[in-house]
Amino acid sequence: MRGLWLLLVWVGVSQAERVFTGDQVLRVNVQTEKHIHILKELETKEEWELDFWLHPVSMELPIDIHVPYSSLASVKEYLHQHDILFSVMINNLQELLDEEKAEMSENETRERGTRSFNFGAYHRLETIYSWMDTLVAQYPNLVTKQEIGRSYENRPMYVLKFSTGGNKRPAIWMDTGIHSREWVSQATGVWTANKIATDYGKDASLTSLLKTMDIYMLLLANPDGYAYTHSNDRMWRKTRSRNVGSTCRGVDPNRNWDAGFAGPGASRNPCSESYHGPSAHSEVEVKNVVNLIKSHGNFKSFISVHAYSQLLMYPYGYSCRNVPHMSELDAVGRAAVQKLTSLYGTRYRVGSICKVIYQASGGSIDWSYNLGIKYSYAFELRDTGRYGFILPANQIIPTATETWLALKHIMEYVRDHPY
Ligand SMILES: [Zn+2]
Repeated sequence: MRGLWLLLVWVGVSQAERVFTGDQVLRVNVQTEKHIHILKELETKEEWELDFWLHPVSMELPIDIHVPYSSLASVKEYLHQHDILFSVMINNLQELLDEEKAEMSENETRERGTRSFNFGAYHRLETIYSWMDTLVAQYPNLVTKQEIGRSYENRPMYVLKFSTGGNKRPAIWMDTGIHSREWVSQATGVWTANKIATDYGKDASLTSLLKTMDIYMLLLANPDGYAYTHSNDRMWRKTRSRNVGSTCRGVDPNRNWDAGFAGPGASRNPCSESYHGPSAHSEVEVKNVVNLIKSHGNFKSFISVHAYSQLLMYPYGYSCRNVPHMSELDAVGRAAVQKLTSLYGTRYRVGSICKVIYQASGGSIDWSYNLGIKYSYAFELRDTGRYGFILPANQIIPTATETWLALKHIMEYVRDHPY
């Protein structure tokens, strides 16, 4: 009996949800190169358990640090000591998470009552998966659901394929949610999938695109991580795989691709948020996508969607040298962003990953580009840091709607520039 009790207590503890009461997110404004250096030092102080939402890279870019309540005084003192200015972006992280959770459960009740799906709300994995079946049932002549493999924790990974026929037509790839805590990414993916299905046959341009091309969408590119953000830790970014010789779990699935693997901008420390993993494609979630893209062999565009910072980027991340198609990718990116901005005035920056943010190796769009998929892009959606990863649900539809204008521009360009 005592054994059973201990077991129950253990299960209770292991499944307890992480709380962030009193945690703050600080926005740091640096004025000198020396400040950057000092903040990079701060990043190595493991005992303070800091989570850099935006890393210190240059004086032009903001730096956002999630600081646990227990380290707040020390970190603020550290910044004061070095004359580094900061402001409090999020005063109590848990408060925001509580609001998010309350909103989600209210929405669940409403959806159950009305038997509907609210695109302006965040959803659990199971709900998104069952919504996919609804979409397929609604549009059987356009949409199919394919399992591309299983995740580390054995969850199915589904792609939605939008196709009007043909065999391995030139195709566009889009994935959302490879970093699980970037919830507006997955939510934008869901809205976009629905948009494509409902606009087909009504929107002449999209209809003509689907006459010659297919679109593949992987809405939950990191299903284990996504489930974990709902059950245990809203701030989880990585996969959930076990690391040999470490108690820290997970690999950064966007440092795990075979493109400058284990180079600068990725960590060899399994406890780091940007741990590259033991080998390229070690993560089954990455490997499943690699297998599909390679066996298909006719993808012309590869688009990966993240949050936050409002950026549209092209390769490379692992190197700051220009890719051969740089001027074309830049021009298409700028035109796409112009369309995006035209709707609500949301400002985006455009450039290569390495130049716009920082050198980061092992990223998906570098891999796809090197495979020969010329139109490879990565989005960082809203916002610029007011809410960061905890973007309120009332911004999902505006975000998805403006992003669609950019996506559509890229897709149309790909259609009109076969290669
Ligand atoms: Zn990301």
